[in-house]
Amino acid sequence: MSNAGLVHEHVLISYPGDTLDPAGWSWDRAACIDRAVERMEQLRDHGVRTFVDPCPIDLGRDPELLAEVAQRSGMQIVCATGFYHEEIGIPWYWRVRTSEEIAELYLHEIEHGISDTGIKPGVIKIATFDPVGEHDRKVVAAAGMASVASGLTCITHCENSVGGDVQQDVLAEQGVDLGRCLIGHQDHTDDANKLIAIAERGSFVGIDRVGYSILTPEDRRVELVKALVDAGHADRVCLSQDHMCCLRSPKFPYAVPPQFAEVYEQILPSVYEQMHGRPHTYLFTDFQPVLEKAGVDRAAFDSMLLDNPRRLFGGAG
Ligand SMILES: [Zn+2]
Repeated sequence: MSNAGLVHEHVLISYPGDTLDPAGWSWDRAACIDRAVERMEQLRDHGVRTFVDPCPIDLGRDPELLAEVAQRSGMQIVCATGFYHEEIGIPWYWRVRTSEEIAELYLHEIEHGISDTGIKPGVIKIATFDPVGEHDRKVVAAAGMASVASGLTCITHCENSVGGDVQQDVLAEQGVDLGRCLIGHQDHTDDANKLIAIAERGSFVGIDRVGYSILTPEDRRVELVKALVDAGHADRVCLSQDHMCCLRSPKFPYAVPPQFAEVYEQILPSVYEQMHGRPHTYLFTDFQPVLEKAGVDRAAFDSMLLDNPRRLFGGAG
């Protein structure tokens, strides 16, 4: 296989405020770049040529770092415009703006580049929390306006696999072609019918946290892919891992309830392994064989990584 594309992966994630923590001041940017270059070279050996990093504006997006990794590794890396969901993202100044004002920001980045880097986003990131909040809806509408005006694809984050239908409603209201939208993080659910409904409206469905068994058992992901294939929607499945090369935050970036603190301390190494530790080739070395055993053959897997991303980004076929 050559020319495969991974539609939701990350080079670097940095949670809002983490750069203030003295515990993280020794963070090594050059080492992060070296690590990412190595990962890209390993992926190239598996036929991956495009690595879409839909890091939102407010999770440490660093287009110059991505450009350096792309230049050194030969990987095509696509960066994004768009804010994260309202629980963690959407900085105050933009929270009080209208959808139209937010769309103007996105379009400025798309047309002129991100700040003064000259680097243009190739995709619009959308994220909503569970449940979808009012600021989330406003920002999804803004993304829809920017998508209609620019023709760029939308890639979404659905917290707990909830809100994909709402995202589709808001995007459709703006006149967005739902066939150019990937409704993402659909692998934290038992309900395959929800995923089939997303595909039936023409969008791509992201089984895009492969390897995060802490969030969903891997068998469940396999069942969901199989259910989509059996329902005739193999051409709407996008596989990816939402896996990072580097996490800048020096401490775990999510609140852990006190009653789980001790157990979390014990499992933290395996959580970090799943977030950023293991190689990005896990999808090929570990997940693909399991998928094949469940009846989704190599040709179907390849097509999910070749043909589906190409159509998501507006290519023929
Ligand atoms: Zn992500």
